[in-house]
Amino acid sequence: MTQEDLDRQIVNCRKCRLWQEAKHAVLGEGPQDAEVMLVGQNPGAEEDKAGRPFIGRAGKFLNKMLSANGIDREKIFVTNIVKHVTPQNRKPSADEIEACVPYLVEQIKRGKPRIVVLMGAVAWQAPRVEGVEYVETVHPSAAMRFTKMRRRFEDDFALLAKRL
Ligand code: SF4
Repeated sequence: MTQEDLDRQIVNCRKCRLWQEAKHAVLGEGPQDAEVMLVGQNPGAEEDKAGRPFIGRAGKFLNKMLSANGIDREKIFVTNIVKHVTPQNRKPSADEIEACVPYLVEQIKRGKPRIVVLMGAVAWQAPRVEGVEYVETVHPSAAMRFTKMRRRFEDDFALLAKRL
């Protein structure tokens, strides 16, 4: 399967109900063979509109964290565990995650990132691909809202930066 085949499969996917209210599938953004992959929960309304991940408030917060640590977002691949927006931005259900996560696994197997950063408890559920290091941190939208989470987010990105 080529990269185009995988992307087409995601765009045309009907494996769960989430495509029904979506404007775009949000496949991910960045170099396919990036050293680092960031994985969030699901696209929000702005991401759905543009078909791009992490461009809303949480995305801007994430961008700030990356640049504060000298990490170039253009060099990393950013995606979500679920590729279509959820109604009212609710958490994806277990069956939606189960239906969608094989796409993430395929993206990881193809891209072979050295480090995959799983942001938030929903992303932590992603099955692990052998030979890849996984880092669990909080979701940027939680880090924006809660001081304790923000500290963890800051610490985790500072540690990540040191390893690159
Ligand atoms: S969220 Fe994932 S599994 Fe569900 S329709 Fe979209 S691409 Fe398919």
